[in-house]
Amino acid sequence: MASSTAMKSCKVGLLSLQCSRAVGVSTIRSFTTQLTDEQASIRAMVQKFTTEQLKPNAQKLDLEGRFPFCQIKQLTHLGLMGATVDEDYGGLGLDYLSLAIAVEELSRGCASTGMILSIHNFLYANLVNEKGTPEQKDIFLREFTRGGSIGCFALSEPDAGSDVASIRMTATPDGDNWILNGKKSWVTSAIEGSATAVFATFDPQLRHKGLACFLVPLDAEGVFRGKKEPLMSVRAATACDLRLEQVRVPREYMVGELGEGFKIAMDQLDQGRIGIAAHAVGIAQAALDTAINYAKERVAFGKCLSRLPSVKDRLTDMSIMVESARLLTYRAATDVSTKNSATAKYVASRAAAAAADHCVQILGGRGLSINYDAERLYRDARGTQIYGGVTDIQKRLIGHYLLKEHDAL
Ligand SMILES: Cc1cc2nc3c(=O)[nH]c(=O)nc-3n(C[C@H](O)[C@H](O)[C@H](O)COP(=O)(O)OP(=O)(O)OC[C@H]3O[C@@H](n4cnc5c(N)ncnc54)[C@H](O)[C@@H]3O)c2cc1C
Repeated sequence: MASSTAMKSCKVGLLSLQCSRAVGVSTIRSFTTQLTDEQASIRAMVQKFTTEQLKPNAQKLDLEGRFPFCQIKQLTHLGLMGATVDEDYGGLGLDYLSLAIAVEELSRGCASTGMILSIHNFLYANLVNEKGTPEQKDIFLREFTRGGSIGCFALSEPDAGSDVASIRMTATPDGDNWILNGKKSWVTSAIEGSATAVFATFDPQLRHKGLACFLVPLDAEGVFRGKKEPLMSVRAATACDLRLEQVRVPREYMVGELGEGFKIAMDQLDQGRIGIAAHAVGIAQAALDTAINYAKERVAFGKCLSRLPSVKDRLTDMSIMVESARLLTYRAATDVSTKNSATAKYVASRAAAAAADHCVQILGGRGLSINYDAERLYRDARGTQIYGGVTDIQKRLIGHYLLKEHDAL
């Protein structure tokens, strides 16, 4: 081991990991397929957790639409609710790739749990950790890494989804406070959550330049949570409307400066898309695992399905899609840019949908049965093309940055 590398034994909840971490070396910028010892340890730990705690319960939680409270509590003990947060604030101080690997492995067993962890970390905890003041971190981070509180990200509105600059939630100054009014939609985990980042306009004429970001406790006076949205995908997770009526927020709870809200949201979505890409890779891998296991056992025309050329072709297509999506996701996690994140999300969400479709086909009639995982994977895969930014927009972003790189806009 290089002398600049300190071996450090870090307690990750119930499990103790041997972590080797380069001291004084910044986050890896160039992409390599080689995982560090630490990243490999995270994968092994989360795989074990998924096999033992998530996979056996995933179908039941999904069918009953039940939030995985117990599993999230265990993930808190493992430190994964603050995976990339500074250790000073109760986090593990890991890199984005380690977090992406954790989301991938969780989503392989239970897509809902993977999504909850992904949004909490990439869209809430990382925002506060990277852009918050020390006071904001004391209030809005510590409890969220080790204390069991869940954080949310409230950007979308009934009339502003993909079109973020059209946000109508208003922020009006009032002495040392801001008064927030308006409605947010689809806020993941808001029913169970304790605080959220909220994006609001202080001057609608300014469009995206008129946005600001606030941290808002969900038990603040004037915050009303809607009912759980009944969903086709990630049914054990929750998403609901949030209504804010005359919600008084101290000036100190604004993140960054006035007018920086759009940039903060876009930066966070670049990270969030790495999370949803990893989540999609996990679902795609689960579809491949399910299909292979079934094809090895099921006999038709005197031989295993896996020996039928058409089934072998489907499995091969699935494998190609899973592996290419994984590589793009890991690249996006090690070299964060709008283009890399959008490319990863675009490819991974389409890979998940296609792989889950092949999986249903390979299982035949059983592919449609709720007694097998295939139908849940099919439903879960579809959602990855919507939340975190629809596929159509990802393609537009990739095209924009491609032409920009070539001075061809
Ligand atoms: C389960 C779930 C969880 C979610 N969690 C959160 C959350 O925690 N926080 C949050 O803020 N939001 C969340 N969302 C909202 C999600 O991010 C939005 O649904 C998504 O961004 C799309 O916005 P929209 O639904 O308003 O669709 P629209 O913006 O109305 O788009 C509908 C369709 O129109 C087309 N389209 C629109 N604009 C363009 C364009 N410029 N170019 C090409 N085609 C276009 C696309 O085909 C698109 O699919 C969640 C959504 C779901 C379903």
